[in-house]
Amino acid sequence: MKNLTRRHLLHCVAALGLVGSRAWAITEAEFDGFSIQTLSDGKLVLPMDFLIPESVSRDEVNDILTSAGLDGDSYDSPLNLTLMRRGEDLILFDAGSGPDFMPSAGKLSEALDAVGISADQITHVVFTHAHPDHIWGVLDDFDEPLFSNARHLINRVERDYWMAPATMESIDPSRQSFVAGARRRIETLGDRLETFEDGDEVASGIKAILTPGHTPGHTSFDLAGKAFVAGDVVTTPHLGFQRPWLPSGSDQNPEKGAETRQKVLNQLAESGSVIIGYHLPDGGIGKVIRDGDAFVFRADQD
Ligand SMILES: [Zn+2]
Repeated sequence: MKNLTRRHLLHCVAALGLVGSRAWAITEAEFDGFSIQTLSDGKLVLPMDFLIPESVSRDEVNDILTSAGLDGDSYDSPLNLTLMRRGEDLILFDAGSGPDFMPSAGKLSEALDAVGISADQITHVVFTHAHPDHIWGVLDDFDEPLFSNARHLINRVERDYWMAPATMESIDPSRQSFVAGARRRIETLGDRLETFEDGDEVASGIKAILTPGHTPGHTSFDLAGKAFVAGDVVTTPHLGFQRPWLPSGSDQNPEKGAETRQKVLNQLAESGSVIIGYHLPDGGIGKVIRDGDAFVFRADQD
């Protein structure tokens, strides 16, 4: 990483005549041959049991929750979409929540305005998985594909999982709306949605790596060996890094999720590659630092 800065784009928002609406925090990193920005889609407000499943006792994690200031019934989870700029390519990883999931989310179009990009300029939309906060934003207010000129790509395993008739019966009842929502987007995209396999290059130098557990076909992306779009492999800067072996309530298969999380964090600590986490703080771009058996997320590390 040559240069990583965070800038609050108040001046940019002001230039667009949106004064008073919002100050967009956009985080950027420059690499040889490409740059990345994370664009905020707002945030999710989630119940604490989404963080801590029943199988984990509060006592086991109280020290971490207390030091992170998490003593209420809910917590805020940021939403960072990754935009990769390379030559003519404008590659967006995930599509945000759209207007229908949560009032605090679905702000991507404002973030795109703030960086001067319109949805029809995006060349690729690459999905990590098909949860609401990652795929519901792919349709506009008229239920048409928002990114009208983009190729759309998803892991075949992930698409097949959400489309399989058995999924509606086997998924936790609280997530049945996720199934209906994913199916509607996948069906509406139709032939526009291409699939790839684990290990494929979805575009030159962008390698898909199956990282299952959060969902069956959850996929991360290695950007030329320099940056790693982790998606939801690790969803919190506290429990996920400091107790990566604990099951997370956000993972559909918590044991598999914990296994994947430890493997990925080990690899990133080893390689020094930059991590971009969809739900990590401060724009979600940083480094994974080993700390004994655990890890620390450090934003803005050169
Ligand atoms: Zn997510």
